[in-house]
Amino acid sequence: MERYAIGIDLGGTSVKYAVVDSCGAFRFGGKLPTNASEGAQSVMDQLLRGVASCQEFAACESLHLEGIGVGTPGVVSPDGRTVVGGAENIPGWEHIELARSIEAASGLRVRASNDANMMALGETLFGAAKGADDVVFVTVGTGIGCGVLIGGRLYRGYRDRGMEMGHITVRSDGERCACGSVGCLEHYASTSALVRRFRELAGDGNEAEVDGKDVVFCYREGVPAAVQALEEHWDYLAHGIASMINLFAPQKVVVGGGISEAGDFYFEALRSRVERYAMPVCGSHTQIVPAELGNSAGCLGAAGLFLHENTGA
Ligand SMILES: [Zn+2]
Repeated sequence: MERYAIGIDLGGTSVKYAVVDSCGAFRFGGKLPTNASEGAQSVMDQLLRGVASCQEFAACESLHLEGIGVGTPGVVSPDGRTVVGGAENIPGWEHIELARSIEAASGLRVRASNDANMMALGETLFGAAKGADDVVFVTVGTGIGCGVLIGGRLYRGYRDRGMEMGHITVRSDGERCACGSVGCLEHYASTSALVRRFRELAGDGNEAEVDGKDVVFCYREGVPAAVQALEEHWDYLAHGIASMINLFAPQKVVVGGGISEAGDFYFEALRSRVERYAMPVCGSHTQIVPAELGNSAGCLGAAGLFLHENTGA
């Protein structure tokens, strides 16, 4: 029998919500602005609005909902009920009793987890790592997020504090990172870093907005600054991925985020470098693959908390 759950993906700019079935298909979905600048209560109101839309849809279709999974930025308490803090893109999003508030409004069971973990779970249950048990998921965007599954279960570290792949060191003599350390992977291999480096190399004085897509476009046109910036990006990212392979020997490394949609050439360049840096014995069974679920991964993983047993979240 088909089962259904609500999946919510809370991000710094939008709240995505969906009714998902046990095969990972969206039966209904939508998104709302997060209203992050208006404070935590306003963000909560948006979450509740998304939940209410899903419940209305389910009632119309007579679907029984198993529960509501929520992916949120920051650290979630081990019982999956409270956002402890650490959500840098939503000011004031700390000590939030997420599960209690949503349960009170919806009458359904609620469980929350970290957003990158939910993307990792989504890709493992329904996407690029379907069928694999040992998975490293990396998302490359403004920062670098990560989720790891060991034996089919999310690995979270004690009290959910671990898996900060963006802050492993790739240069001990590197620049200072927002986390307080120096030379972090995120500071050198995120899309923001790629854009910053491209502008530096291009000696670009003008204030035109440049994003990762523009750098990729210039790379394809053979613009030297873009070629060098992207090669450095691959090199740093490959060091980070090789370190994860040496630690976890995953079957799949799934790479997501906008830049991962650049095309095959992006993955070929990345794979050849990872091959050079990872220990052959650790990486011999590892495939590096693009994420398949795009923006839906978070909602799918969150719903997966109620559609699949033993996810470890
Ligand atoms: Zn750092």
